[in-house]
Amino acid sequence: MDDSRFVFEQIPEVKTILPGGTIGILGGGQLGRMLANAGSEMGYKFITLEPTEDAPMGQVAEQIVSAYDDHVAARKLAERSDVITYEFENVDAEVAAMLMAESYVPQGSHLLYTTQHRLREKRAIEATGVRVAPYNEIRSEEELREAVSRFGMPCVLKTATGGYDGKGQWVIRSEAEITEAYKTLSLAGTELVLEQFIDFAKEISVIAARSSKGEIKAFPPAENIHIENILHLSIVPARIHEDIQREAERLAIRIAEGLGAVGLIAVEMFVTANGELYVNELAPRPHNSGHYTMEACRTSQFEQHVRAICGLPLGDTSLTSPVVMVNVLGQHMEPLLEQLVAKDEVAERLLVAPKVHLYGKKDAVFKRKMGHINVLGPTIEAALEWIEETKIWKV
Ligand code: AMP
Repeated sequence: MDDSRFVFEQIPEVKTILPGGTIGILGGGQLGRMLANAGSEMGYKFITLEPTEDAPMGQVAEQIVSAYDDHVAARKLAERSDVITYEFENVDAEVAAMLMAESYVPQGSHLLYTTQHRLREKRAIEATGVRVAPYNEIRSEEELREAVSRFGMPCVLKTATGGYDGKGQWVIRSEAEITEAYKTLSLAGTELVLEQFIDFAKEISVIAARSSKGEIKAFPPAENIHIENILHLSIVPARIHEDIQREAERLAIRIAEGLGAVGLIAVEMFVTANGELYVNELAPRPHNSGHYTMEACRTSQFEQHVRAICGLPLGDTSLTSPVVMVNVLGQHMEPLLEQLVAKDEVAERLLVAPKVHLYGKKDAVFKRKMGHINVLGPTIEAALEWIEETKIWKV
């Protein structure tokens, strides 16, 4: 692995970008759309480079319709923007370097380079003194067999790049699976990593923000529940001991600081029954598990990201209400739209009507993220009850 590529990158001189300035975003999906909505309210202008016509962000801001690795289009983005950020991780390294030379990219590209690859990411997390699940780089079937016997089963084989929502991984439960798991994941043509299986009690995430001027704040941890590897619910406050919540925030802050992040960094963690924390993954951008902040925190993750990259003081991250965020996938759209026009008697028991956010995507494809709802209630139980009783998520 060539780790030297980005090590000597020039850290850009810190600038303060005031409202009125233009923020360019590489990628124009829902994260870009919500960044633009939050930042527009603060007085910033937005432009995105995004290949899909009429993309979620293109509907609320200017859009350059072109491939992410189109250098001419990227240069146009650079010319038009006072500051550039990204809303996805697979930013082409050459484009990143070009944007840094032509415009102001306070996040740099080193953290992106680190989080684009599971092995690099794990080494970087460990270097900050934070624990990850024991792992091994796997270069052959023999190495896999040897590591499986060392870690015991089950254990998890993952591709180092390109995996998301549970794709690119295989939970090995018997020796008979080793050959097939190795052959199947090797097809991806990337390095492989074997992880010990963590018998977790909960999955949580903490989103931290570090501003270009070095200020750091973390949002309260979210307890995340996945269905078929796709985030279904984020529950806040997470139903874990307060000491573990504070420890999780502390770890996220340590990682943001240790990796010199600028902007948001989402830290996904496993919590074991006896309260140990293991970091699973990082994402250097707004995160689905942080959507709850839009109504339930004094500052949303999107406003915080804008503040962080523009060099403004960070906003207060306090939670103002118990909340459950529930994702709306393609299959939930029809029942949700029916529900939206009906009288919602269950919601009358909540403090505030559930807040529906839809991303403006045309095709309600099965499992596609179409929107989310923030259900604020007097208690988490009341919010969960609304989700249960609408029956939208029975589909
Ligand atoms: P990832 O793609 O790494 O986020 O993994 C997707 C999901 O697989 C996680 O949210 C966990 O539920 C599960 N998973 C991944 N790695 C492990 C592990 N080492 N131990 C237990 N479960 C895991």
